[in-house]
Amino acid sequence: MSGDALMTTYQRLPIAFTHGEGVWLWDSDGNRYLDALCGLAVTGLGHAHPAVATALSEQSRRLLHTSNLYRVAAQEQLGARLCELTGQEKVFFCNSGAEANEAALKLARLHGHQKGIATPTVVVMEQAFHGRTMATLTATGNAKVQAGFEPLLEGFLRAPYADSAALQALTADREDIVAVFVEPVQGEGGIVIPDPAYLGELRALCDARGWLLMTDEIQSGMGRSGRWLAAEHSGVRADVVTLAKGLANGVPIGACLARGKAATLMHPGHHGSTFGGNPLACSAALAVLNTIEREGLLDNAARMGDLLAARLRDRIAHLAGVREIRALGLLIGVELERPCGTLVEEALARRLLLNVTQGNTVRLLPPLIIEEREALQIADTVAELISEFLGDAQHAA
Ligand SMILES: *Cc1c(COP(=O)(O)O)cnc(C)c1O
Repeated sequence: MSGDALMTTYQRLPIAFTHGEGVWLWDSDGNRYLDALCGLAVTGLGHAHPAVATALSEQSRRLLHTSNLYRVAAQEQLGARLCELTGQEKVFFCNSGAEANEAALKLARLHGHQKGIATPTVVVMEQAFHGRTMATLTATGNAKVQAGFEPLLEGFLRAPYADSAALQALTADREDIVAVFVEPVQGEGGIVIPDPAYLGELRALCDARGWLLMTDEIQSGMGRSGRWLAAEHSGVRADVVTLAKGLANGVPIGACLARGKAATLMHPGHHGSTFGGNPLACSAALAVLNTIEREGLLDNAARMGDLLAARLRDRIAHLAGVREIRALGLLIGVELERPCGTLVEEALARRLLLNVTQGNTVRLLPPLIIEEREALQIADTVAELISEFLGDAQHAA
């Protein structure tokens, strides 16, 4: 096996998985791993879920693709279901998170031009992550994502995250703002969970000024927080919502949902995608929605997240070197005081998949189907890894 033909876009770990089942993955040497990462918040139903497999095999025997020149039954069904579940009114389907965000940013600009604003500007946050296309990397609040790709796009204003007063001050005399684009929980930013009042304050500000409130729920949505959308924890309904990652359990799909005036901004010719909303991806997503409902996975995500976080707090919150343990459902971050990237390989040696983001935050994104035993096993292994890491660091100091 050689990756020589692949562009050097990724720093890959020297491991390949051959198959999976539920929360478990097997590598090519037959070792079994507990998956507390879900391919970055994607496989919420775990691996090889029979409902998704059946939907895919049945659909693939009937029809994979016809294009958006025609009606697509599965797309219409999925659109209606998603609107019902999220309180939105219209959907545009695409194939990834970044594309869903591109659609949202195009909506914001259409909204601005409709109001006669020639240079519409979208407020975006520090430490935000919105994707790797030109518009979404511009919206992303991370210099490493942007470096080398200048010139960035115009039409963005950066504000501190989780601080509505700062946002208000920054925009007080600006007439060109058209939207606020925000993650309800910052995922790549380190599982940063704002005060529950924050989104409501942004909602009020957007209402007062005629801006769209646009939430990127690509990581936090689809049940991962214990609700369909993380914004529900604040009782807030956005004007535009983007979804991807967990939506079809690994089949590429993205969705940009909108309501109110944002729902009717797009007209034929404004936007499109060849693959977007094709029968295969939509069938998989419908199976995911059905399974989350049938198996009560929102409740499970909330309960298992609480359990896992409580166990982690019991075991390591008191340790010097642990700055904070943050959790909302199965979005879980353990921030340490020093960089801890080596923990990824330490965990791999213990047959556990996790991720470190922002250099010093262990990020756990286990599947929504996780059971008590496995949640506790993740917590105990992570607690041991961090205790040892901090112990070693203390000895070295
Ligand atoms: C992963 C992610 C994206 C980008 O999704 P892609 O499918 O990789 O383009 C955008 N926003 C958030 C919050 C994400 O977590």
